[in-house]
Amino acid sequence: MLETHPTVSRLLTAPAGTPRHRNQDELVGLAQQVRLLGRGGAGFPVATKLAAMPRGRAVQVLVNGSESEPASQKDRTLMRQAPHLVLDGALLVARALDTRHVTVLVHDPGATDALTRAVRERSDASRVRVVAHAGGFVSGEVRAAIRLVDGAPAVPPGRRVLPHESGVGGAPTFASNVETFAQLALLSSLGADGYAAIGSAAEPGTTLLTLVGDVSGPGVVEVPTGLPLAALLPGQDTDPRPVLIGGYHGSWVSDIRDLRVERPGLREAGLPLNAGVVARLSNDTCALAEVVAVSTWLAGQSAGQCGPCFFGLPAVARDAYALLHGRPSTADLDRRVAQLPGRGACAHPDGAAMFIRTALTTMTAEVEEHRRHGTCGRPWLQELPTGPAPAVRSAS
Ligand code: SF4
Repeated sequence: MLETHPTVSRLLTAPAGTPRHRNQDELVGLAQQVRLLGRGGAGFPVATKLAAMPRGRAVQVLVNGSESEPASQKDRTLMRQAPHLVLDGALLVARALDTRHVTVLVHDPGATDALTRAVRERSDASRVRVVAHAGGFVSGEVRAAIRLVDGAPAVPPGRRVLPHESGVGGAPTFASNVETFAQLALLSSLGADGYAAIGSAAEPGTTLLTLVGDVSGPGVVEVPTGLPLAALLPGQDTDPRPVLIGGYHGSWVSDIRDLRVERPGLREAGLPLNAGVVARLSNDTCALAEVVAVSTWLAGQSAGQCGPCFFGLPAVARDAYALLHGRPSTADLDRRVAQLPGRGACAHPDGAAMFIRTALTTMTAEVEEHRRHGTCGRPWLQELPTGPAPAVRSAS
């Protein structure tokens, strides 16, 4: 079974089955009552997205299970362990929108197998397509995911067209992350009061996180929203270290004492939770080498069709590598990083800039050691994964 944080285990233990049918207005109302936010990157209000959808046989539902960030494991864990709950949510939305077109986009082979089996096991999923793909970080972006489903290169289109206007095959598409669909299934079964019986007032319920590095048991955890972040990071009060919130498009932060696992509060603090990766490095690894490795990986995760990705990210990665070996000043790197945001067709350069900028501002002692001596003396232990995702530790 999935190892969960002791405080809660609800989403992954929910009984699978067809949730109570809801029409579009009812589903929008429920999502509104519990302030449900999307569980992919943007954290967009689900009710708003659902209310904007037209209904009809041409409409498409896209379940985005790409999860292409190597540090994140929560979506593949959910799909492997509770594939029927994900399908419940997708079919619930499809019925509310009077359509039968459901596509699940998956990257992880184990999750693909689990979903394919689950589709075969049920009588209401004959029109569900499970599309497996080879991955790539940017392909997780919803517009890139739509292009991939349509057989085009998995890069976001230059124009910012919203999926509810033109998505899969050019049809209006309700697209969201796999966890969002599982949460909708649970919400429909429990009703708003039951769903909101745990979690914070601002974002009721639970959320899945992937804990990475020196944390209270690395892997996937399900926690009630509103949980103090420090509960997941023992020893942080006596040995404070930078904590990465929101994964490789997220932010490093030094002081987590007032932070809780809750998207609205974190966003207010300028710390998007994104897909829910929380990481802390041990004192044994070279923190700067970890950051440089991720920066280099980020630079390789685009088709280079926009300036900041074609020129900016590779130059940043080169500067960061040189800094690791004590060569240029941080001023060069800061200047280059400042030029990345706001100029790409998607948020990749902005997210990468946030990751690198906040690393430099929270790891000042490590940066200074490297600048002066060309090393900190610690080895690079690869605590932040940049290769193919490791096997899911907790899936049964
Ligand atoms: S900003 Fe970068 S990742 Fe995004 S579409 Fe342009 S080249 Fe691709």
